[in-house]
Amino acid sequence: MCGVFGISDRNNSVSSLDSELISGLATLQNRGQDAAGIVMSNNPFFIKKNLGMVSQIFHHQKSNISTEPVGIGHVRYTTQGENTLKNTQPFILEEPFGIAMAHNGNVTNFKHLRNKIIQAKRKIQTTNDLELILQLFSISLSENSRKEYTYRDFLSAAEFIQSNVFGAYSVLTILRGYGLLGFTDSNGIRPLFLGKKESIKGVIFAFSSETSSFEQLGFETVRRLIAGEIIFIDNNNQIQTRNGFLKNYKPCIFEDLYFSKSHSKPINSVNHNDSIALRRETIGKILGKKIKMLGLKLDLVIDVPDSGYFYAQGISEELCIPYKKGLTKNDSMRTFISDKNTRKKIVLKKFNVISHLIKNKRIGVVDDSIVRGTISKHIAMLLKSEDAKEIYFISGSPIIRNPCIYGVDMSLKEEMVAYNKKIDEIALYIGVDKIIYPTLGDLKKVYENNRFCHACFSGEYPTKVSKSILLDIAQEKLFRIKENI
Ligand code: SF4
Repeated sequence: MCGVFGISDRNNSVSSLDSELISGLATLQNRGQDAAGIVMSNNPFFIKKNLGMVSQIFHHQKSNISTEPVGIGHVRYTTQGENTLKNTQPFILEEPFGIAMAHNGNVTNFKHLRNKIIQAKRKIQTTNDLELILQLFSISLSENSRKEYTYRDFLSAAEFIQSNVFGAYSVLTILRGYGLLGFTDSNGIRPLFLGKKESIKGVIFAFSSETSSFEQLGFETVRRLIAGEIIFIDNNNQIQTRNGFLKNYKPCIFEDLYFSKSHSKPINSVNHNDSIALRRETIGKILGKKIKMLGLKLDLVIDVPDSGYFYAQGISEELCIPYKKGLTKNDSMRTFISDKNTRKKIVLKKFNVISHLIKNKRIGVVDDSIVRGTISKHIAMLLKSEDAKEIYFISGSPIIRNPCIYGVDMSLKEEMVAYNKKIDEIALYIGVDKIIYPTLGDLKKVYENNRFCHACFSGEYPTKVSKSILLDIAQEKLFRIKENI
């Protein structure tokens, strides 16, 4: 999972656009902490990127590095390709003219596309799937061999990507001298929002992976791009849109359950007051009802900080039992470490237990999801060591048994705690008295329709997925586990 942010300020309304871009990127840090970068539309492009967090990479950044009106940025969580500077986004290409690109998502037919690009006598220099999108986009434009391009060419090149590149992606592109382009995959699996801010000088447009960025920077959310939608903002601040290569809208539900900030808008939000926090609380109430039906008696409910909080609130209200902050997280340990094994160890050391709340109590401990079970097992151990009487682990997401092939870091079935286990066996493995999950049916009630991707729970993938594609993705993941990258 990654985050993208882009901005187009044709009237020079913002005194320092690069600072605004970096601030936008910092609001998306929750989506990826491996690497970050920005590119501005100068000729040649101004580009700065590195491994690490936004604040580490840009802390010496002077503002006004560029007076250009367009910029895009990216924060990376590595799911495909190694975490190296070479693979860090944005990428740039000078063919047929200056194109800069960043994306959030995963390409599933990458082997086929690599061959296609090599056949077109182009060199592939990274193992990041963004390069496949960028090269194909450039190939599509180059076929026109024009002196001047129009917005129709850009919309058609994006449509070409949507019909040839399988998987999930939201893409931002600077077309130097022409404008800023944003588009999603044909199912709209990965999110991309359009925002705007009015100023005395005119309107500033922005794209972001989450609406919370807009709130923090004073932008108004215009809307989420629909499945396959393409939006181009030209040099005169005019917007051109096309529906693109459209299939069923299937936004990723895991964005709401886990990734996105709680004050962001949910995937199918229609209501101004709606928020991810509200949806998580509603799922919590459903979980509370399940606990009642099972006849379980809890003394209190605690959360795994931070995304378990609103589920825990819902459970607490439904069961009329107190919510307490029984676990705290030591955020001063939030440091950039490229080695994933070391990072996992540090994550586990982050949790502290508030002993007097736990001793001799029947505890319901709530997390947003249980994927590998490492954190859940560690927390169960911490609570036991503080003499919890009974421990009930409660997940905000249904049982995850299938790999995500769309950019969330769970692409290997075998590494999931639920792999080949029944619920009681998962509880035994984690070391708790019982585990409680919502069902997919419960989620459908909260989201009032079936219009979301739930492949990691159900195994029903919204895109074409052959056995060989699943195997390619699993092999790529195995390679990274072996190399510890
Ligand atoms: Fe999201 Fe799961 Fe679909 Fe992946 S498989 S896109 S995590 S809902």
